[in-house]
Amino acid sequence: MKDCIFCKITKGEIPNYTVYEDEKVLAFLDIHPHAKGHTVVIPKVHAETYFDLNEDLLEHLSLGVKRTMEKIDKVLNPDGYNVGWNHGVVAGQVVPHLHVHIMPRWKGDGGGSMHSIVNNVGNKSVEEIAELLK
Ligand code: AMP
Ligand code: ZN
Repeated sequence: MKDCIFCKITKGEIPNYTVYEDEKVLAFLDIHPHAKGHTVVIPKVHAETYFDLNEDLLEHLSLGVKRTMEKIDKVLNPDGYNVGWNHGVVAGQVVPHLHVHIMPRWKGDGGGSMHSIVNNVGNKSVEEIAELLK
């Protein structure tokens, strides 16, 4: 993708602070970190969302996330992590190239959990949703 900022990073057209790299995955420090060592992990091929990447590369991306976490763990030794991705504009995705955020966490850092992203269940019960998803 010509105008994709993360494709430009994989091609070396924009610099990055690499944390982990292999032939299919690149992990680099987020330029506007929300935590010490905040890192994003991307597939080197362009895919906008999780749905758009083939399953072999998704498996490899998952392995890349683990290896990146191991590196961060060894060097920065955080107390925990939040790991995930914003899928779609409504969920906060700004860069339209799939990327997994690794947020190292420390005791007393004041941050929340996955549950603090949203708290609005809509008008259907859990049972009704379960029925729809059967
Ligand atoms: P998202 O909101 O999930 O799309 O997050 C995109 C992330 O990419 C943000 O946290 C940005 O700070 C980060 N970002 C954007 N441009 C760069 C860049 N050139 N180098 C490193 N991180 C970047
Ligand atoms: Zn891209």
